[in-house]
Amino acid sequence: MQKNFVLSTTDRHSKARRGQLTTAHGVIDTPAFMPIGTQGTVKAVTPRELRELDAQIILGNTYHLFVRPGLDVIKHFGGLHNFMNWDGPILTDSGGYQIFSLAKLRKITDGGVEFQNHIDGARAFISPEIAMEIQAALGGDIAMALDECVPYPCEYDYAAQSAELTTRWAKRCLEWKRRNGETAKRGLADSPDRGFADSMLFGIVQGATFDDLRQQSAQAIVELDFDGYAIGGVSVGEPEEEMMRAVESAEPFLPRDKPRYAMGLGTPPQLLEMIARGMDMFDCVLPTRLARNGTAFTTTGTLNLKNAQFALDKSPIEENCACDACREFSRGYIRHLIKAEEILGLRLITLHNLHSYLNLMKRARTEIESSTFDQFRKAFVAGYKTRDPMMVE
Ligand SMILES: [Zn+2]
Repeated sequence: MQKNFVLSTTDRHSKARRGQLTTAHGVIDTPAFMPIGTQGTVKAVTPRELRELDAQIILGNTYHLFVRPGLDVIKHFGGLHNFMNWDGPILTDSGGYQIFSLAKLRKITDGGVEFQNHIDGARAFISPEIAMEIQAALGGDIAMALDECVPYPCEYDYAAQSAELTTRWAKRCLEWKRRNGETAKRGLADSPDRGFADSMLFGIVQGATFDDLRQQSAQAIVELDFDGYAIGGVSVGEPEEEMMRAVESAEPFLPRDKPRYAMGLGTPPQLLEMIARGMDMFDCVLPTRLARNGTAFTTTGTLNLKNAQFALDKSPIEENCACDACREFSRGYIRHLIKAEEILGLRLITLHNLHSYLNLMKRARTEIESSTFDQFRKAFVAGYKTRDPMMVE
């Protein structure tokens, strides 16, 4: 079988890795940041702008797309790539995380999860097989196995049972993919099903904040043999040290030659810390979500552009930033747009924030290649003033 992940450099002073993941829709340079396209759009940004920002992959939220517009509509348009006019790689999540965080009345059994969606309260049921079926219809390049993401804090016994359930579900996802992938391969060369046959499936490690459970979960999931491995159940409200430990506990058991994805992370310093701990892929709502309340990410921390201090500020959000917002507009003007609730304000900050995250990954890759990543990480983290971007002043 053709190898789709190639590791080109490993840092000598940390576990940082530089690699390339090849998908049917293009190559992803790792470490990579994946902007989140929750409802079939990265909020306020067009696919053309994403390409200009050098985004190499985006994430699609299965739960949101399943609830609205629904699979029939997306199938009618020939899959998510065609529907949203993005021709680069797409990773779809399993929908599990949103079911556990957004939907109501969940009943979890070995069979799957019963829930009411958060839009119109309609009842639905999702099983590992259904999660795979939905993701196949969306037609992403990387699908995720259905897992149970437990909240923080979580009792040991529940976390242990839940991690075992996640393993059983992972196995069923893999079996579904193998069974249906073979059928799809025999189908038409250019049918959406064919794309599914070439897609990848990642397994998810759980185990909450317990070292032994993280280790056991990693071993059990790796045993099943996925195309890549994700660490889930992190960044769910636990202290940062617990998050780092969860990754450190699982990482030694992940195979070197497969991509590793730390789910739902994080702030710029956290991304560098995760890269230093051997993680390759990230997704995070912060750059797009915080843009909406006027928060911009810079290499030294966050700025809340709503603050009065920026009213007369003629400088760009960040000096020497190559993004459109910084090349063409001042902090004072963008502050005015945000205060006046003009759509352009949030668009400009979103463009800057995405550029900032994507550029940080680009920089990390260069630093790994020149064996200077660890110095870079330490200096960046030390120089970063905002510890918690959610606590903007
Ligand atoms: Zn900028």
